Amino acid sequence: MSLSEKFAEWKGIPREEIDWNPTIDKDKCVGCGMCVSSCGRDVFDYDPDEEKAVVAKPLQCMVGCTSCETWCIYEAISFPDPEYVKELMKEEKVLSDIDKENLS
Ligand code: SF4
Ligand code: SF4
Repeated sequence: MSLSEKFAEWKGIPREEIDWNPTIDKDKCVGCGMCVSSCGRDVFDYDPDEEKAVVAKPLQCMVGCTSCETWCIYEAISFPDPEYVKELMKEEKVLSDIDKENLS
């Protein structure tokens, strides 16, 4: 999959080096399509043959977002432990360039 420039990096880190994307449990997915229609980053496709969602563009998932996991009332979507993202942020000091003057 070719990754557009828009999604190529997260906080200066190459996106393909970050292990963050949804995983679908096919046994639990009923194909309701909620995740497909709700994700603003077009991460999911719908497989009409299997009548299930598929993770088509995993690297377009916003790092740290778990919205689709919440939306899936069938609990078919899972993510890595969010602590992974927190540790990554600490290691890479991704917040150190925040302009604190403009936070208020
Ligand atoms: S929201 Fe859940 S059950 Fe519905 S299509 Fe997506 S993964 Fe499947
Ligand atoms: S976590 Fe957010 S960005 Fe990632 S696939 Fe789910 S809804 Fe889309």
